[in-house]
Amino acid sequence: MPLLKIARLGHPVLRQTAVPVEETEIRTAAFSQFVDDMIDTMRESDGVGLAAPQVYASKRVVIIEVKGPHPRYPNQPEVPLTVLVNPQVISHSSELEEDWEGCLSIPDLRGRVPRWRSVEIRALDRAGSPIQLKAGGFFARVIQHELDHLDGIMFLERMSDLRTLTHLREFQKYWAG
Ligand SMILES: [Zn+2]
Repeated sequence: MPLLKIARLGHPVLRQTAVPVEETEIRTAAFSQFVDDMIDTMRESDGVGLAAPQVYASKRVVIIEVKGPHPRYPNQPEVPLTVLVNPQVISHSSELEEDWEGCLSIPDLRGRVPRWRSVEIRALDRAGSPIQLKAGGFFARVIQHELDHLDGIMFLERMSDLRTLTHLREFQKYWAG
């Protein structure tokens, strides 16, 4: 399984609005292979989520998985492997919750980001079947982070106070737990 390269902050692909995947494309072997490669890449990079633009593909595809205890997010609950094609938020809580986020495209940094506490989304699964799901807590946070990538938004712009930005080593030393 080939691992995909991850685009880093500054690459224009991360600032583009990704295009929806056509249903005919979803049923191709190439698309299935692409999703498998995204999964391998996310797992190999110790990610909890990955959006297609992060692997240089400007398509509306995100994957999420938290297998505990996760090396980069040891205190977060598990989330089963979830593949979302053309995802859309259909409703969300009014309350926001602030917590730490990192990003494989912004290596070695963490920052505090306010996100909706819960979201309900509609999407297609990797086979093209419609799915609808409700998520709260960390799962809801990762969904919002990954969906932002589809619109060219990085977590840095979502931070309410840039002074919380910290390198990972300093995060673990002073802010984790
Ligand atoms: Zn990210």
